[in-house]
Amino acid sequence: MSITLLVYPTAPASLSTPHFTPEVLASPTSNLACDIIVLTLGGTHDGAPDEKEACQEIAVRIRKEQGKGVFIILWSEQVSQSAIERTRWQKIGINMITCIPTHLTSVLSTLHTLLTLSPTNTMYPCPHCPACLPLEALQIHLPLYHTQEPNRKSSCPICGAHPRFLAVHVHTHNTEPGHRLPLFALVVCIKDNKVLLVDEVAGQGWWIPGGGVDPGEDFCEAATREVWEETGMEVELKGVLRIEVSPGEGYPRMRVIFYAEPISTSPPPKSIPDYESAGACFVSPTELDSLPLRGREPVLWCTYLQQGGIIHSLSVMGKEWARPAIGS
Ligand SMILES: [Zn+2]
Ligand SMILES: [Zn+2]
Repeated sequence: MSITLLVYPTAPASLSTPHFTPEVLASPTSNLACDIIVLTLGGTHDGAPDEKEACQEIAVRIRKEQGKGVFIILWSEQVSQSAIERTRWQKIGINMITCIPTHLTSVLSTLHTLLTLSPTNTMYPCPHCPACLPLEALQIHLPLYHTQEPNRKSSCPICGAHPRFLAVHVHTHNTEPGHRLPLFALVVCIKDNKVLLVDEVAGQGWWIPGGGVDPGEDFCEAATREVWEETGMEVELKGVLRIEVSPGEGYPRMRVIFYAEPISTSPPPKSIPDYESAGACFVSPTELDSLPLRGREPVLWCTYLQQGGIIHSLSVMGKEWARPAIGS
């Protein structure tokens, strides 16, 4: 089976495609039949209005004419680094926005695997596009192609359930549900006065990275793991902003909100969508009002830090069996 990879107006300089021979799309009005398309803004004129307009037109026309089975990548440094721009381009149907050569190479390799699979006895139809895939492939395809599909829109093609997050549900099919603790670690990670935010799955909006503490983990381990999974960044926890305990009959829980900074050797923020998130980006506090947010935490904690709020020592987080010597 041959796979068509189109590029417009040219391929990114760093595009290395051992699996594909890219075809250059002559103009936005040319035949758009393809499996994957890479739209490139940049080179000498990143952001030229006519170039942007042409790329937008192509994306809109692909979705209209070919549905959601085509994987559309936008290569742009400027758009990659702006949460507002990322949101705008995703709304017209872009699957992935990046300017990281290794991310592009990696996603093209995954797409090649998905698009060249041999049929097996049990295949499941994707609820969003014409793809029909074995379970393991659907578990990769759904979060990669359709991370931003809204909640509860479609039923699971494997078991018929209507889960809250279909991509997450399918991704974890046939795995034992882990024991969930009512403990959560959230991270406010700051670099150059910008806060690291996650583009949450199912179009929920942007939010600070964080999630549940797994059995066997402490809050600090959960915090750094969640940041890694949701943003692709390695951070160093620097302190604690707040410890919150919410008693209540229905849903008692405890949350620790950490302050962190990226380590100098951290990879750049994630740009390949998966079941953890659609990507991540540093956002300046002034941009927060223009972004769809999942909750008010990003605004709250940026304001807190701007106003000189206390960052408590990490030493308040401890284990019962590892107390410091007291009174000796
Ligand atoms: Zn699909
Ligand atoms: Zn299911």
